Parts: sequence; structure tokens; C-alpha cells
Amino acid sequence: MSSPPRIPAFHRDAGRFLADDARVGWHDQALWHLRAKRDKAAAATPDWEALRDHAAALKAHVLDQLPELWTRFSANARAAGWTVHFAADAAEMRATVHGLLTAAGVRRVVKSKSMLSEECGLNPHLEAHGFEVVDTDLGERIVQLRHEPPSHIVVPAIHLKRAEVGELFHRELGTPAGLDDPTALAHAARADLRRRFLAAEAGITGVNIAVAETGAMVVCTNEGNADLGTALPPLHIAVVGAEKVVPTLDDAGVLLRLLARSATGQPITSYTTHLAGPDPRRPGHACHLVVVDNGRSRLAADEHHRRALSCIRCGACLNTCPVYRRASGHAYGTVIPGPIGAVLAPAMIGTAAARALPFASSLCGSCTQVCPVRIDLHDQLLAWRRQLADEGLVPLSKRLAMRAGAWFLAHPRLFAAGGWLGRRLGFLARLPIPGPHRLWLRHRGMPDLPADSFRAQWKNRHG
Ligand code: SF4
Repeated sequence: MSSPPRIPAFHRDAGRFLADDARVGWHDQALWHLRAKRDKAAAATPDWEALRDHAAALKAHVLDQLPELWTRFSANARAAGWTVHFAADAAEMRATVHGLLTAAGVRRVVKSKSMLSEECGLNPHLEAHGFEVVDTDLGERIVQLRHEPPSHIVVPAIHLKRAEVGELFHRELGTPAGLDDPTALAHAARADLRRRFLAAEAGITGVNIAVAETGAMVVCTNEGNADLGTALPPLHIAVVGAEKVVPTLDDAGVLLRLLARSATGQPITSYTTHLAGPDPRRPGHACHLVVVDNGRSRLAADEHHRRALSCIRCGACLNTCPVYRRASGHAYGTVIPGPIGAVLAPAMIGTAAARALPFASSLCGSCTQVCPVRIDLHDQLLAWRRQLADEGLVPLSKRLAMRAGAWFLAHPRLFAAGGWLGRRLGFLARLPIPGPHRLWLRHRGMPDLPADSFRAQWKNRHG
């Protein structure tokens, strides 16, 4: 087993973002604003907590019934005219989509937001084979033009300033130099995208919910781009993760009530569309669905971590996480960032590759508090840390420090003596000494240390 890197990549990449204090400040505030809107929406929804309980139970039931639900879904979807494909992994998903586009003689594709297609590397694969793939969600389009991945699962370009988008559009879309008015920028993007929609020969969408009892797919966007991408081209390919199925329309309603409120504080996503199969009024209209496993069955069988599959990708745990808000999504180096990304990554890409991520958390539990489907995110992170330690994937320095700490805490007299010494020498931490603790203190002040220990203060007050 190779030894862990001395400085995990998360720290290095977060450090790049943290170097720009102003950017960190507004990134933090923008996400906290979303969190505040989520709180307001939750408070205004009767029985919000009961709704969360219901959704958690529903998702647990779904994970127990995945094969049965997909069998039922497939029968109903095929009856409605969908062609249903199953892909075991990312390579099979790419090959299936590639094959469908090639068979239909398609070269120009419009695509709405799909974290699954990011996970499977669909865009780079298709582009390498000569397809033109245009992301049509505004945030996705911005990061596509910048040749970088999304930094958030709901607001993909949240890490960028308006002025940066203005410069990008000036370069790529020919808007006037210095234009940074959001409405004018959105109009410029819309004009460019409209042209692409009209020329597209196929539309690819993600899926928020697949409903087994109807065989229909629910797709949510705030821009209507998925609707246009499925209504204009003659070929529609939907890609869905195997965990996204629910038994009934009423179940979909439960998740939809939670999704938009948790994501942005909206009562419902602006365009919540039920796609029911090919339109009989459009001759030659073809609809395909690719159901992708890519490790999900394996995770569903893991009793410790399977709850992570309940995620409905609302982004609330990202918006509330003090680490994500300051480090930004790119620091995680994974398709899904934030607390849920740090929980999913060890299961999906392996503990060795993702070993830094479960430590990218203060374990404050704020993520667990807001998760609409009650995933125990901070407990999951702790469980992964334990597993990483068992697998020897925690750096030696940390292991030795933890052992020394445990020994120290197990000896009360030594602990008291250490406290006495620490209170007298704590000022040393403020000195410009090089070393790893500098990273910790760069964005934090060292508090004044009390003159007496907690025990002494307790004794003085309570006798
Ligand atoms: S883990 Fe929960 S809070 Fe985080 S994105 Fe998924 S559903 Fe939302």
C-alpha cells in the first residue's frame, strides 16, 4: 500500500480558493443566503419534520426494493413507448448513449443538467468522438465554456463573480467588454442557446425521479431548458441513476415538496415536468432511458453506508457546510462535493482515492440537520474516518498524534499539568512560526486563554 500524501489534495486545492479572501467572503454569504431561504421555506411548510420522516422511510423502502421497482417501471415505461437500457457502469453508459446517437446519425446534442453524466464523463467522451454537446443550464454552460467542472450540484457556477462571467461571455459570445449586468448576460446566453436548441438533433437530460407506477420521468429545472431540449429534437435520451426510482406518483410528490424548498427555498422548481414517452403527434419522435448502476447496487448492499443513496441532490448540505462554503466545490476533486460528496466518494471511487474527504468536515452536524431525507451525514463521515484508520489510510503523523492524545486524555493528572503549561505558553501559537498549524491559524484568531482551568473555575463557582 502506498503511503498517504503529506498534504492531502483537498487542503492544497482549498488553499487556492482560500487565498482570495474577498471571494471566500461572498461565496460563503451567497450559500448562507440559500440556507436562510431553505430555513424560511421549511418553517412555512406545515409538518415539515413529518415530511422529512416520510421521505427517509420512503427512500429506505426504495433501497430494499430496487430490482422490483425497476422491473415495474420498465414494464410501464415500455408500454408508454420508452426504450429502456441498463448500464452496469460508466463505460457502458457512455457506449449506450454514443451508440444511440450514432444510430440516429446525430452530431449536435443539447444537454440539461445531469450530475450522472458528469459522473460518467459523458461530455468528454462524446466530444472526443466528434459530437457537439452543449450544456443548456446557464450555470453549466458557463463552466462548460470555462472548461471546468461544476462547483455545486444546484448552482454550478456559484464560485464565479459576475465580472468573470462578463469577461467569459465577451470572449466566447462576443458581448460588449465590461458588461456584467446579470439580465443582459442571461439574455446573451439565451440568444446563443436558442440557436443551439433549434439546430440540435438530440436532447440528453438527467432525471430527478422515475415513477414506477406510471413509467414516467420527472425532470426539474428553473430555466425550462430540459423542456426545450426534449420538445425540439426528434431524439431524447434520459439518463438516470438506479437509486432515483419511487413506487408511486404520491411518493414523487413527497420528494418534490422537499427538493426545491431544501435547495433554494422555492415551493417548487419552476419547471417540474413529467415526461411520459414519445409524443404521438411528432412522427419519428424517439425516447430512450439509460438506467445506470455504476456502483449503486454495491453501495445499496453496504448496511453502513447505503443511506447515502437516499440523496435527492438538493444541495442543502453543501449550502450549510462551513467547510464547503469556504473551500468551494472544486477543492473536493469529485463530481459531488460537500458533505454528501465526502460520504459518497470513498464508496464510489475507493477509500484510497478519497481518503482526504471524510476529514474535510468540522463534524458540526449542520448537514445532518438540514438533509430533507435525514441522511446521517456527519455520522457517516465519522464512520468513514474509522474505516480509513482501520485500512491504514490515515497519515502516520495523524495516527501518532491521535494515539498520543488518547494516552494524554487517559491520564487526568498529566492532562491537568498540560493545561497549566498550555495556558502559560499558549501565546507562542500567535508567533509567526512556520509549520502546519499556520494553516489552521491563517483564517482563525487564537482566543485568549483563561487564567484558570475549567475544573478550577467549576470548583470556585460550585464549591
Ligand atoms: S445529502 Fe441530503 S442535504 Fe445533501 S444534497 Fe443529498 S438530500 Fe440534499
